[in-house]
Amino acid sequence: MAVSAFQRLLRVLELEEKQGWRNRAVIGGLAAMGERWADDARQEGADTRVVEMVLLLMVNYEEADQENRPDILEAMRQALGGLFADLDELLAQTGIRLGDGATPAGQPDEGEVAAPPEEAAVAAVPPPEPTHVAEARIRQQQARRDPAQLEASPQILAGVGSATAEQLARLGIHRVMDLLWHLPTRHEDYSTLRPIAQLEPNETVTIIANLWDIRERKVSMNRHLVEGILADASGTIRATWWNRFVRKQLQVGSTMRFSGKVGLFLGQKTLENPVFEDVDEEMVATGRLAPVYRLTEGLSNKRLRNIIKTALDDYADLLADPLPQSIRDEYDLLDLPTALRQVHFPDSPEQLQQALRRLAFEELFYLQLGVAQRRYALRQATALPMPVDPLLLRRFTEGLPFALTGAQRRVIDEIGADMARAVPMTRLVQGDVGSGKTVVAAAAMAIAAAHGAQSALLAPTQILAEQHHRSLSNLLAHATRPDGSPIRVALLTGRVTGAEREAIVAGLREPDNPDAIDVVVGTTALIQEAVEFHNLGFVVVDEQHRFGVEQRGALRNKGSQPHLLVMSATPIPRSLALTLYGDLDVSVLDEMPPGRTPVKTKRFYPRERERLYSFIRRQVQEGRQAYIVYPLVEESEKLEAGAATAEYERLRTEIFPDLRLALLHGRMSGAEKDEVMAAFAAGEYDILVSTTVIEVGIDVPNASIILIEDAERFGLAQLHQLRGRVGRGQHQSYCALISRVPAGSEAEERLRALEEIDNGFELAEKDLELRGPGDFLGTRQSGLPPLRVAQLSDMATLSAAREAAQALIRRDPELADHPQLAQQVQRFWRGHGDVS
Ligand code: ADP
Ligand code: MG
Repeated sequence: MAVSAFQRLLRVLELEEKQGWRNRAVIGGLAAMGERWADDARQEGADTRVVEMVLLLMVNYEEADQENRPDILEAMRQALGGLFADLDELLAQTGIRLGDGATPAGQPDEGEVAAPPEEAAVAAVPPPEPTHVAEARIRQQQARRDPAQLEASPQILAGVGSATAEQLARLGIHRVMDLLWHLPTRHEDYSTLRPIAQLEPNETVTIIANLWDIRERKVSMNRHLVEGILADASGTIRATWWNRFVRKQLQVGSTMRFSGKVGLFLGQKTLENPVFEDVDEEMVATGRLAPVYRLTEGLSNKRLRNIIKTALDDYADLLADPLPQSIRDEYDLLDLPTALRQVHFPDSPEQLQQALRRLAFEELFYLQLGVAQRRYALRQATALPMPVDPLLLRRFTEGLPFALTGAQRRVIDEIGADMARAVPMTRLVQGDVGSGKTVVAAAAMAIAAAHGAQSALLAPTQILAEQHHRSLSNLLAHATRPDGSPIRVALLTGRVTGAEREAIVAGLREPDNPDAIDVVVGTTALIQEAVEFHNLGFVVVDEQHRFGVEQRGALRNKGSQPHLLVMSATPIPRSLALTLYGDLDVSVLDEMPPGRTPVKTKRFYPRERERLYSFIRRQVQEGRQAYIVYPLVEESEKLEAGAATAEYERLRTEIFPDLRLALLHGRMSGAEKDEVMAAFAAGEYDILVSTTVIEVGIDVPNASIILIEDAERFGLAQLHQLRGRVGRGQHQSYCALISRVPAGSEAEERLRALEEIDNGFELAEKDLELRGPGDFLGTRQSGLPPLRVAQLSDMATLSAAREAAQALIRRDPELADHPQLAQQVQRFWRGHGDVS
């Protein structure tokens, strides 16, 4: 009686087990016998689904690491024994339970141990035919080729089990899709294939060589050096590894591809710690631009490369390309599967660039689509039109303590034109510190009040809110309601509490309240739920980059489509503004009020400090006030506060014992800070020693000098902001930058730019040029979704994406005909908004 196919396989499995799951019981491995065995089994009338199952397990067995094979083997046994009542369930389960190919813990890198050939047993199975394996694989793959599986756990990949899945999850990879998008941080260039004789020290190369010899030397207590001799037709070279495990992976006499850096050891060329691959294997790690990934403990780069390669091979084609073909054609972009393949495993540096360009374009396209869509949506909403009465504007202007600058008049006109329309205004006013943005906002408030609408101004800090409240109360002294009665301006911050707060809340909510409020200035206290407006028609957000998107949105939502004005003193280069505020109209206050002499700015060395102190003393004797600023590094506010405190003590007791000094730092409570600032503004102190908390908008016209220590630690934009604290009155003002930066360094260039350039916009362009947009604003501040591939400085791609986005939104504003794109845009912007 012939042995049945099932029994035969069970014997093979037994042998496998005896030999330690090396997949050597059958020549060529288990999977190699698969097709033949399956035919036999089917002829014997075996359940075809059991046969399919076993076939699948064979392939899995082959691809799994040794330590995971016992489980798979056991599953095969159970399948053969008919122990699974429900095969579908088993199939479902195996996806989870089978074949974890994780590198065993504690073992560095690389695959499994190869068994010496003599251990392979020739079982009662005919020699394998490779095509069978291939067919089994293809069938297995076809069975699972379903786009939905892009969303499945990486465990559906052969050789990936729960342990690896956990490691992947730590990298944020939960789905096959995430694997495809786990982009390399860089590539190692192993693409130069060279004969050994031509190798030069310090190059990174790939050679194809035969391993002549391999041995291990103990170098110290627990360091072992593995040395190999590699040879090709042109010569030999020594290879070294600090990894004992390598010895088991390499067989003397085998020909492999080795990639690594050429070093010199005792005058001899050496290949240091090269990675290697079988010559007939597809190139994943050697002989090409090899991807380098962000890793997690227990997961080697090689292993991740292989997993991602498998994912790309099996699933990349299932990705639907969100970019319409027409756009890809027009802008000459790779399709998504190709781009992803090339970004992981580029065929050439040019292909890598093409792939990166395509992925960057996609990101910027979503960014610009979002911006264009919002712009469109805003234009669809209706606001209360507030046409400007020229008489009212004249009265307002004439009531001011100064004449408006040309720029102010122009911007007020632009705002007036916006407010006259039934579309809500969404305008950004950019103006250098001291350019007079407040009065522009006041003019708009006067217009709103004349139409019976309420205005609200959101300020980033208590001090600024109070300052704005004071200025606006003055500037709006002559503004009236439609009935000609004077308007009421109120202040609402966290410190306004109790009955006072209740009165303000009532005044905002009730139009008929005898104390009805027309203009309210406040901090985020304004956007609390209890605060309601009966008719909020105009919203101003000052120093907008300080606010989260939600906060800006929250205030706007308190009215039904109020007109919105955003004011920023951080000048943003035009190119960047297009991206950041593409949905805003932009006005620029590019003219300073008259009578201002530019602040004299100069760099000093630390040893010149004493001279500066004398200079400060003279300024104080003339009745002026001074700032001395110490850098604050965000991470160590405490440390810096400490430094400022120590310096304050030193200055107060040793340098200026006869002057009145105050200290201001970020660790003080809001109330403490306000108190100090108010006292300084009132002239009660001569010198304010501070960290950068004074940066924003503080207006003390009598202050004439600011001394900035360690100036190189600040960005240009920030230094310019700090400098803006002086030169706000009629006195000649000074900005002294103390630093010790090497000549010719980027930091020095930055400080020199500040000496030479007075205009914030020019400085911003310079800063952008010196540091790039990432540093210029920091993504945190920009409020943009994080970009994975694209760079905001990549103007070529940016404007292409912008052009494409605008064209598309013109044709299909809601993206109704592009549902996939709509979804992508939404996903891209999720959790992020815009300045409106
Ligand atoms: P910004 O907010 O743009 O930094 P502010 O609105 O605080 O500037 O104005 C700075 C100072 O300049 C204020 O004291 C303000 O009264 C004054 N100012 C504004 N516009 C003019 C002008 N046209 N002429 C003279 N002084 C002005
Ligand atoms: Mg201001």
